[in-house]
Amino acid sequence: MDLNIAPLGFSNDHLLRRLILTLSHIFREVKVFYPLINVENSYSITRRQYHSTHILESVIKSSANTQGYHLILTELDLFVPVLTYIFGEAQLKGRYSIVSLRRLHEEFYSEDSNDEILFERTRKEVLHELGHNFGLHHCIDWDCVMHSSNNVEEVDIKGEYYCRFCVNEIRVNNIAIPEFIQFP
Ligand SMILES: [Zn+2]
Ligand SMILES: [Zn+2]
Repeated sequence: MDLNIAPLGFSNDHLLRRLILTLSHIFREVKVFYPLINVENSYSITRRQYHSTHILESVIKSSANTQGYHLILTELDLFVPVLTYIFGEAQLKGRYSIVSLRRLHEEFYSEDSNDEILFERTRKEVLHELGHNFGLHHCIDWDCVMHSSNNVEEVDIKGEYYCRFCVNEIRVNNIAIPEFIQFP
């Protein structure tokens, strides 16, 4: 299985390269693609944020003939109508997901900037959204990356990979992933 990563309002090449390296442990091939969509169509003037589901739908329409999974990476601040903000969204058992780094930056909350923390948070949220694509619901185990996160502290607290139960669930859905991956 292949993964296509779409940087959308995103230009952190160093982080993108590290992420590709990590995801190469799960996917046969990880490619970068640039969807031809106008993201401003997904902007809400009243909320000053971008409607996550709307972006996903636009990318799905623009890449209907492509194979494999699709992950959109963005720095845009995302929302869905019922929530103040979201870190990401994914189709359950689908092939499309989106993750925003906007609220994963330490400098969003304090004066500090920390590339390592940003990468760890991004990796967790990416594996989390891909987990939904793999058919996983939220997990009650805090050591599992499929635990839900309502704020960045909860992203930091939860584990960085799928628990044994979730790995089994993924395999039941006929998706082959390693039991553990080494994080470079
Ligand atoms: Zn989730
Ligand atoms: Zn789990």
